[in-house]
Amino acid sequence: MKPVTQGFGDVFLKSPHRRFNPLKREWVLVSPNRTQRPWQGQVEKTVAPVALRYDPSCYLCPGNERAGGARTDVYTSTYVFENDFAALKPDVPDVKLDEGGRGLLVAEGESGVCRVICFSPRHDLTLAKMSVAEIRAVADVWTEQERELGASDDIRYVQIFENRGAMMGASNPHPHGQVWASRSVPNEVVAEQAGQAAYLEEHGCCLLCSYRELEMGLGERVVAANESFVAVVPYWAVWPFEVMVLPLRHVADLEAMTDTERDGLAAMLQTVTATYDKVFDTPFPYSMGLHPQTCDGEAHPEWHFHLHFYPPLLRSATIRKFMVGFELLGGPQRDITPESAAETLRQAGMRA
Ligand SMILES: [Zn+2]
Ligand SMILES: [Zn+2]
Ligand SMILES: [Zn+2]
Repeated sequence: MKPVTQGFGDVFLKSPHRRFNPLKREWVLVSPNRTQRPWQGQVEKTVAPVALRYDPSCYLCPGNERAGGARTDVYTSTYVFENDFAALKPDVPDVKLDEGGRGLLVAEGESGVCRVICFSPRHDLTLAKMSVAEIRAVADVWTEQERELGASDDIRYVQIFENRGAMMGASNPHPHGQVWASRSVPNEVVAEQAGQAAYLEEHGCCLLCSYRELEMGLGERVVAANESFVAVVPYWAVWPFEVMVLPLRHVADLEAMTDTERDGLAAMLQTVTATYDKVFDTPFPYSMGLHPQTCDGEAHPEWHFHLHFYPPLLRSATIRKFMVGFELLGGPQRDITPESAAETLRQAGMRA
């Protein structure tokens, strides 16, 4: 196969090809020829926006009782509490098991902390509807959580995320996210760390700094930019309207950011989520998460902070992408190109 460094894009506009994800060092199959195929599969119900400012039956609304008997405080901005049904618990013994000694039945103790972060006391708000100042308060809570949990010797990663919408398994529309901090580094982060370290080693520069520079020069996959952050549909995106948010400066986590940068992050989160809601004129479901560096006590010059948005919607408010068949057994695949998804998002962003 002949390597070409520019001008080959047109060849791939209408024909199947695969694209390399250098972060995870895996390939994604792109089939732009398939976008016209008829759909007779599952259709989801559309979801009406939430109208109530306060829902007496919502356990995240201020002052309400939660399952298990605890009560949510009467809070006025953001609110953090330990998850009543945590997937991780502190003080689990740090032991490893290899039953039979053949490296086949292997397990190890995993300890950690799971917390819930309410973004606002208002039940009816979303990041898209909150002010930049209000989202900035959320970014400050994320920073505190990263700092506090990351300082523990028994924590090596602090994963902050939000599941938005019933389609992504969010059980409650109240604006909130979670933090899961764990003794071990999760799989996705291990892969992305290896990808970034390999790139630094091979090219002598940061993968995501180089990538950001390329994308901002080309512009075709850029969705939005402000003075500190840029949002792009990654060249290797898997989800139809996947977006990656990158700081313009090489910073590894929220703590390393300036006040101006945290303001820029808040503004970019509002831009991206508001843009999403306009695409199909519906509250856009997604899983969103922060990827700061690991907090394992090592230096990570290779790591460039970023956020991922993984939204499932494909071509309307009711038709979603499924990861099945080839994707489960072979590898990820998409139909609409990242370039056309970026164009759709830019157009939506311009609509009032
Ligand atoms: Zn609520
Ligand atoms: Zn960088
Ligand atoms: Zn990542």
